[in-house]
Amino acid sequence: MDHRFEQISPHIVIMHAEHETDRPVLAAIAGGGRTLLMDAGASPAHADCFREELDRRGFRQPDLLVLTHWHWDHSFGISAWNVPVIAHEKTAGVLGGLSGRGWSDEELEELVQAEIISRESAQHIRLEYGEARQITVGKPDILFTHSLVIDLGDVSCELRHVGGDHAADSCVLYVREDKVLFLGDALGPSVYGGPRMYSSIEFLRLLETAYSFGADWLVESHGVPMSGAEFRADLAPWERIARLAEVFGADRERVLLELRADLQLDELPADLLQGVEYFMAGARGA
Ligand SMILES: [Zn+2]
Repeated sequence: MDHRFEQISPHIVIMHAEHETDRPVLAAIAGGGRTLLMDAGASPAHADCFREELDRRGFRQPDLLVLTHWHWDHSFGISAWNVPVIAHEKTAGVLGGLSGRGWSDEELEELVQAEIISRESAQHIRLEYGEARQITVGKPDILFTHSLVIDLGDVSCELRHVGGDHAADSCVLYVREDKVLFLGDALGPSVYGGPRMYSSIEFLRLLETAYSFGADWLVESHGVPMSGAEFRADLAPWERIARLAEVFGADRERVLLELRADLQLDELPADLLQGVEYFMAGARGA
């Protein structure tokens, strides 16, 4: 059994995230009439892996593709799927601007200097594509602005634009019958255009949106699927940091003091310490 793949609900098979080159989760949602693919993958190689697994399982291949946001690791596999691509109009705008570009080391460096991508992303692109890079950035075909419901025949999916710090075009996808919510990277910090940061207001708004679906399972694109209870437990300390940052702003010492007391920890784990720094950067910028 190949542990890279998993059926997580009656209608959904996923390919798990892979951290070496930052590949996100891909999902195929099969209704009676059509299969919807969530995110195109980081590259044709990534896309081909998932397509082959769907064949092995006898799963209907995608008829439609939706993008959660424009970032390369979610969208650069478009050219490997010969299906209509649905995306937010901001996603289409950015991808339109990137199509036709070259992706040599020099051209990657230009994008890093312009803060369109990060140095970390440029390194991941080099690793994913190797030295002789041929990258074709595909353009979405069907655009929406607020939300869209896609009927797959006995399964329906709601695609909703939520925006936020990570990317202004971030969308989430809710598979209603299976009660599975794909969050894309919407709950992540900003990654491009300056130091990583979280704004407490945006983070709390997105968290409330995530909870509002009443999902049984929640899937962040670079994480593992979590039950509703696991998700709440995982996000509780982050929600606490956001609330402390709302009250104490960029007063790091006070935020750390309160957080240690709340969590009853003498020492905070590294990911939460990093999180505090992101919220402090957001509070300083606000
Ligand atoms: Zn992203």
